[in-house]
Amino acid sequence: MRYISTRGKAPALNFEDVLLAGLASDGGLYVPENLPRFSVEEIASWGGLPYHELAFRVMRPFVAGSISDADFKQILEATYAGFAHSAVAPLKQLDANEWVLELFHGPTLAFKDFALQLLGRLLDHVLQKRGERVVIMGATSGDTGSAAIEGCKACDNVDIFIMHPHNRVSAVQRRQMTTILGDNIHNIAIEGNFDDCQEMVKASFADQGFLKGTRLVAVNSINWARIMAQIVYYFHAALQLGGPARSIAFSVPTGNFGDIFAGYLARNMGLPISQLIVATNRNDILHRFMSGNRYDKDTLHPSLSPSMDIMVSSNFERLLFDLHGRNGLAVADLLDGFKASGKLSVEEDRWTEARKLFDSLAVDDEATCATIAEVYKATGEVLDPHTAIGVRAARDCRRHLATPMVILGTAHPVKFPEAVEKAGVTAPQLPVHLADLHEREERCTVLANDLKVVQQFVSAHGNRGKPL
Ligand SMILES: *Cc1c(COP(=O)(O)O)cnc(C)c1O
Repeated sequence: MRYISTRGKAPALNFEDVLLAGLASDGGLYVPENLPRFSVEEIASWGGLPYHELAFRVMRPFVAGSISDADFKQILEATYAGFAHSAVAPLKQLDANEWVLELFHGPTLAFKDFALQLLGRLLDHVLQKRGERVVIMGATSGDTGSAAIEGCKACDNVDIFIMHPHNRVSAVQRRQMTTILGDNIHNIAIEGNFDDCQEMVKASFADQGFLKGTRLVAVNSINWARIMAQIVYYFHAALQLGGPARSIAFSVPTGNFGDIFAGYLARNMGLPISQLIVATNRNDILHRFMSGNRYDKDTLHPSLSPSMDIMVSSNFERLLFDLHGRNGLAVADLLDGFKASGKLSVEEDRWTEARKLFDSLAVDDEATCATIAEVYKATGEVLDPHTAIGVRAARDCRRHLATPMVILGTAHPVKFPEAVEKAGVTAPQLPVHLADLHEREERCTVLANDLKVVQQFVSAHGNRGKPL
């Protein structure tokens, strides 16, 4: 499989190189040159497979030529064996023809584990083969950092540095990162905010001299392997609800458009999906595009669903690429315009094309809490605020009652007790494997909000705690 850039000017790469690359050299994102397509008969034949075997069938074409079947099978089996539910991604019925797909049974209790548990293992496999070591740097306001650290903790060839804003993440989220001890795990609390952390990661990619030749790898949501891993659970859900013989609708709590873009790819690979609902919080740039063809940058509004607090949506470019007939130069023009003006809209017929599949809703904090309360009252289920936004959007935007509606349950409610308590619901307990989280030893270094200080720290510790 070869991968091409959404901006048309970077060289095509194979899977292995895409895994290690961040942005393409022209500033674009990598997408498969040709998407695999499965027949309805083939998809139907996968019914009843264990999750890791389904994952093998769905993702095999994407890694072809880079990872052998035997190795890939083994990696996938190990990846999903660490999930706390034997179904890996169980479906729970909420209402007539309405289900939540629970994606929070991984080690850090959010859907990001599906991709990052795999990414860590893929990186280690490829690096082992090449005899290479890499450094990962990332910034987090919560979920991504812990999932990335959990995914990389067993990697022999990776040192991971995750920066979070000092005293600005919840105790559960901080401890999910800082209690993972290993000489290749480096938690940095920055005396600044999340944007300061992110800016330092960006600046480090732009000027890598401090790494003395060691390759820097990104694990943010633009990484192709993360999108790829998320395609699988759309197939998994559909197969349990009568697909592919019938169509399924999905409602997806959305921030950077990675998770829902995986659903869009599943449909283009042959899975009958009749509707994809973009569910956002008040940070609603995607809702403004879907409802009115206006992708206009706004300020950041902190919300009770912080994992969806974004100003621009980094994977949206991948959809724009398809909407423009995969013309990379047209996409580059459009995004240059957006960079200059903060505004973007597409030609009417392209927007109409998108609207055939996508609907959207923006849900504020008040409606989020009301939905948590509503669902708790009706079913006894406690939703996290992100999932609650998905449920609200599913109920308001649904096209056909006869089509099964699946809401992606993106996080466990215990991670976001503030919203749950505001809804008047008692937050649930930590699951067994995290029950002693608050007693575990923490390791973290507090650093000044200063790029030089951070880069010195990385170069002094980037080789399993020793200097690069
Ligand atoms: C990351 C995240 C999202 C948003 O997913 P995107 O792929 O960025 O759209 C939603 N909910 C939770 C809990 C998350 O951690």
